[in-house]
Amino acid sequence: MYWNKTIETLSPADLADLQLKRLKTTLAQVMKVGFYQKKFRDEGVRLEDVKTLADVSKLPFTRKQDLRNGYPFGFFAVPLNQVVRIHTTSGTTGKPTVVGYTRADLDTWSELIARNMTMVGLTKDDVFQNMVNYGMFTGGLGFHYGAEKIGMTVIPSATGNTKRQIEMIQDFGVTAIHCTPSYAMHLAEVAEEMDASLDTLKTGLFGAEPWSDSMRAELERKLGVTAYDSYGLSELFGPGVAFECPERDGLHIWHDCYLVEIIDPVSGDVLGDGERGELVVTPLMKEAMPLVRYRTGDVTMTIEDGCLCGRAKKIARITGRSDDMLVIRGINVFPSQIEHVLLKIPEVGNQFMVYVDRVNHLDEMTIDVEIDKGHFSGELHDLARIQKKVMKQLRDALELRTTVNIVEPGSLPRFEGKAKRVVDRRGSM
Ligand SMILES: [Zn+2]
Repeated sequence: MYWNKTIETLSPADLADLQLKRLKTTLAQVMKVGFYQKKFRDEGVRLEDVKTLADVSKLPFTRKQDLRNGYPFGFFAVPLNQVVRIHTTSGTTGKPTVVGYTRADLDTWSELIARNMTMVGLTKDDVFQNMVNYGMFTGGLGFHYGAEKIGMTVIPSATGNTKRQIEMIQDFGVTAIHCTPSYAMHLAEVAEEMDASLDTLKTGLFGAEPWSDSMRAELERKLGVTAYDSYGLSELFGPGVAFECPERDGLHIWHDCYLVEIIDPVSGDVLGDGERGELVVTPLMKEAMPLVRYRTGDVTMTIEDGCLCGRAKKIARITGRSDDMLVIRGINVFPSQIEHVLLKIPEVGNQFMVYVDRVNHLDEMTIDVEIDKGHFSGELHDLARIQKKVMKQLRDALELRTTVNIVEPGSLPRFEGKAKRVVDRRGSM
């Protein structure tokens, strides 16, 4: 199913023509931004040197820190009276990043969300509960307007009060939900405790944090949904940048709106199809805040093969952030790999926490794992057996020795927004 079949199934040649045309418009737009005027001048970049799509690699990168330095409106290419909305992205340190939208930007954004939701079979007959933050976070309003554009019945339930969320799903006959995968898992647990049936649900859209295929299987089993991965980031409008189609084998990124490169995060060199690296995006349809070669920090690769659905080249599911990647005794570890191993072990529950310390100059990784309620006997020899099993499977998968603590069901923190499962204490000791 297509929202905009002509654009979604453009031939590669027509798509490339459109991308190049839009790239040139975008570059004219970025020259209205002081940061880019200076940057291009300092680096001797001339716009007339960009003649083909590949020439984009001659342009400098834009980093998250550049956007922070521009706080609040330094990256706007239009006067403030043409900016009809502002969002910010959560900054863990210092000021947040500000993102602005013109009326046309909001239309483009909701068009992309409408494409995504139609692609997975949702229509105006669906009742959609949007269980993400509606404030400055882009996930709430982004999905909201896309779903309304399709004509779905939208419930802006936002986050919190899980029992009430479950009652609304039941009372309103909700068929589709959107939330973070970790919140979906929490919802399933609470529904189980309440002995509540969620049998109207058929579609789950999950995003804003990396999650594994084992997590998908678990969510589908517990919630009775087909689960789709959603990818986006506020600097590129918000959610809706890329989305799984019914094949669920990689995400379609909307190439008419986003020019994609994968780079080696250390050298900055552009990588080929099938090579994993950092996703770098030049948005092609942004008016208020155009960007050039924005470094997302997210790790993925482009997939060469065409898709049965007829849409253009996909990216693989995000395996982590290049800055989330832990380097433990020289080995690269992503939290999503740990999750993938744990969820395949029936004796362990859905929650875990990872702690990294430096002990006598050596990196030590400790993982607290909740035991599954049904396997919790309280017997010490059972706990020891499960602990040994988890440690062995982690060692096999990560090629790394870890310490595992098995803890009681319900004892680890639950997350309503993005899960923070890793505590790296190496810097603080
Ligand atoms: Zn597809």
